[in-house]
Amino acid sequence: MCKQLMNSSENEDSLPARRCASAISMSTGDDDVAIKILYCGICHSDLHSIKNEWHNAMYPVVPGHEIAGVVTEVGKNVTKFKAGDRVGVGCIVNSCQSCDSCNEGFENHCRGMIFTYNSVDLDGTVTYGGYSSNVVVHERFVVRFPDAMPLDQGAPLLCAGITVYSPMKHHGLNVPGKHVGVVGLGGLGHVAVKFAKAFGMKVTVISSSPAKKQEALERHGADAFIVSRNDDEMKAAAGTMDGIINTVSANIPMAPYMSMLKPYGKMIMVGLPDKPLEIPPFDLMTGSKTLAGSCIGGMRDTQEMIDVAAKHGVTADIEVVGADYVNTAMERLAKADVRYRFVIDIGNTLKSSD
Ligand code: NAP
Ligand code: ZN
Ligand code: ZN
Repeated sequence: MCKQLMNSSENEDSLPARRCASAISMSTGDDDVAIKILYCGICHSDLHSIKNEWHNAMYPVVPGHEIAGVVTEVGKNVTKFKAGDRVGVGCIVNSCQSCDSCNEGFENHCRGMIFTYNSVDLDGTVTYGGYSSNVVVHERFVVRFPDAMPLDQGAPLLCAGITVYSPMKHHGLNVPGKHVGVVGLGGLGHVAVKFAKAFGMKVTVISSSPAKKQEALERHGADAFIVSRNDDEMKAAAGTMDGIINTVSANIPMAPYMSMLKPYGKMIMVGLPDKPLEIPPFDLMTGSKTLAGSCIGGMRDTQEMIDVAAKHGVTADIEVVGADYVNTAMERLAKADVRYRFVIDIGNTLKSSD
């Protein structure tokens, strides 16, 4: 069960987060954890959703699935959390909890998976996300923040972090010495660089923004930086990469990127542009390459990811903004004008209605 309160002063005609039609009364069920939200990251999926680019918006959409806060109350069956704990909620707030995927810890593959917002929950209510004051979630879908992980810089890991960590792990791209390419140095991309370096890999960023080169190399620790429209740089990297994590939110031609893979290399799509991919079959066949997709991650992997991140000092580079800046943040995100994740300071700038 996931229910949130939202009390925003946004203009009703404005682009992103709409006000909830009415404040929903929340109750903490026996297995639930009630959380006061302090921070929420702004993922590009929030932007796709509010603009209805995936043609599934159930307005009013209250986005936000990079939620960090503090437990205020727990139900009587809850064993893992208590009031005062620092916790997070990512992209999933419910699932069938009994299928093979759920039993194996891959709730992200459950056919009954309920997304944190813009989903119909098991009780028929629509879920509303973390641009909100509070959230109530079954304890299974709550992640514990390690002591060393700040809530604000850690919040984006709940989506951006797990979305890049999971495919590296499950496609064997977390092995020291392997060479991974990261296409798109945005919210997901910059965290992918940091995890790959923590795994001891060689990392090349392939970006449409030459201005990000210095930061990629010096701040995020990438080994090389290629400007995607520079044909010479692209060709020089042909056949060098074991895998590529493609985080680009827009439709881009795939062929130039496929040619950068070694034989048996893997192109993993995590970016979700609205149009079908165009990929010439010959570019897949040559070198016997794999094209794969990856969907966030299960709860076991999400807890593991944030523990590994804390151990290696992996956090998101963030720009903290107030709730009244969300519309501007969305406009800037659409132009890839953020270094590298907006995080809303919910605790100080969004007034609770309770
Ligand atoms: P983001 O912060 O906006 O980063 C996307 C990056 O893609 C931009 O910073 C930019 O990097 C590059 N880019 C954008 N437009 C481009 C264009 N027209 N041509 C070339 N490059 C372009 O977005 P994000 O939050 O990281 O999310 C990225 C994508 O992943 C979104 O589509 C989102 O919905 C999806 N996503 C998927 C999952 C999943 O489970 N698979 C989970 C979360 C998000 P450069 O400036 O370096 O080129
Ligand atoms: Zn996301
Ligand atoms: Zn299930």
